[in-house]
Amino acid sequence: MDLDQNAVLRRYATAVDAAHGELTRLDRHSGDGDFGDNLRAGLRAAAARHDRTGGPAFAVLGEVFLDEVGGTSGPLFGLLFTEIARALAADPGAFASGAAAGLGAIRRVGEAEIGDRTLVDALAPAVDALHGPRPFAAAARAAADGAARTAGLRARRGRASYLGDRALGAADPGAAGIALLFWAVASVAE
Ligand code: ADP
Ligand code: MG
Ligand code: MG
Repeated sequence: MDLDQNAVLRRYATAVDAAHGELTRLDRHSGDGDFGDNLRAGLRAAAARHDRTGGPAFAVLGEVFLDEVGGTSGPLFGLLFTEIARALAADPGAFASGAAAGLGAIRRVGEAEIGDRTLVDALAPAVDALHGPRPFAAAARAAADGAARTAGLRARRGRASYLGDRALGAADPGAAGIALLFWAVASVAE
């Protein structure tokens, strides 16, 4: 079954609306508090643009996040969406290779290793899980577990790296945002 990209966009936007307070709380703990606003604004703008233009939803997400969304996370999410869009355009069953290419692009630009307490700690295990059985459900679980584990990590990238031990005890907001994306994909696909 081909992934219903429009349904993923809508489901993700609804989930982020509901999680906005929690994402804000996480970025207040370890950053500057704008991550919930950044992600929600990008998803609302993408949904509105998709209402006007139609077309593959991941391509619209990629354009909006690369062009319009602020914060460190905006362009990084934009790279992920763009690579997923590119892969799905070539082969509607190629979500896994698109997500892997997105992870590669994010790591080239952001230079985060696994364990640096960034969204890579949710995305990398999700990409790995996409190669196993029931890939979308497994990826959603892996992303959620990876995001939860960031609560025990000291940050070596991004704004949270200025905080030392003070970021410990709450999850990385970007990782939590990635977990919601994979939840949305799984809820549409399986
Ligand atoms: P800012 O810190 O500029 O306000 P956001 O709040 O939009 O950025 O996004 C913060 C998130 O960005 C972090 O929670 C982390 O997951 C992610 N992030 C920060 N730096 C990097 C990096 N170098 N590589 C990957 N992800 C990063
Ligand atoms: Mg922030
Ligand atoms: Mg900011």
